Amino acid sequence: MISRDHPRYHSLIQREKITDAWRKGILADSGMIAHGRGEAFDYLLGEETTEPARKAIKAAAAALILAENPVISVNGNTAALVPAEVVELAGEIGGKIEINLFHRTEKRVKLIEEVLREHGASEVLGTGKLMHIDGIMSPRATASPEGIYSADTVLVPLEDGDRTEILRKSGKTVITVDLNPLSRTSRMASISITDNIVRAVPALIDAVRELRDAPREELEGILRKFDNTENLRETIKLLDIRRYNPEIESP
Ligand code: ATP
Repeated sequence: MISRDHPRYHSLIQREKITDAWRKGILADSGMIAHGRGEAFDYLLGEETTEPARKAIKAAAAALILAENPVISVNGNTAALVPAEVVELAGEIGGKIEINLFHRTEKRVKLIEEVLREHGASEVLGTGKLMHIDGIMSPRATASPEGIYSADTVLVPLEDGDRTEILRKSGKTVITVDLNPLSRTSRMASISITDNIVRAVPALIDAVRELRDAPREELEGILRKFDNTENLRETIKLLDIRRYNPEIESP
């Protein structure tokens, strides 16, 4: 039992969820390593939603509201950390949920589907036969025909660079959540939210609720003004290894 007053309470709770999911087989070994990398960036960003992340969340909300066929992609880490929030967000945007795994096994797909259904999902895609996007014969180019394959906008948290590139090249608007502003995914996506998924998805739900009734021109304006490269640049400026040790000066 982790005490609420522990200074690293939130981080320890996330670790517990991640290791539990790994023990149950929901998460591959590499999912734990990915979480560790995310933690390190989160530490450097002050473990809070930064101003550039807030802008990216607003742009992502506008894109999801404008989308005709939005799909949220779920992997082991997402299922471990924010299953209920993903289901809620899908409801808010009238979007679909698709399981998309780097280390795909039928058992892991089944387990993640169960987690999502336990949290209220009525339809979970990516469990059956997949198709190759634009005929690219890579295992990273597969998607469900009624889901990511035919989506115009996809939210793909914690995605890898190759797949992000394939999704972008196929003409989709790609929104990612990735704590590493230097990753290929962050650079390749249309909108990169550099924030922890445990904060980003609830913030996205709020932003969608706030913007839902806004006129179409206003939403399009938000999207037009958003510049992903500039946003990542602003985020990189915030990375500060002295954040927790301000007395240590850089050389
Ligand atoms: P790329 O191919 O995009 O360069 P990568 O191979 O370096 O990515 P992966 O292991 O595919 O990285 O993806 C994991 C990414 O997810 C890491 O960049 C990590 O920072 C990020 N990440 C891990 N946990 C979280 C989290 N809780 N919230 C947001 N991002 C996270």
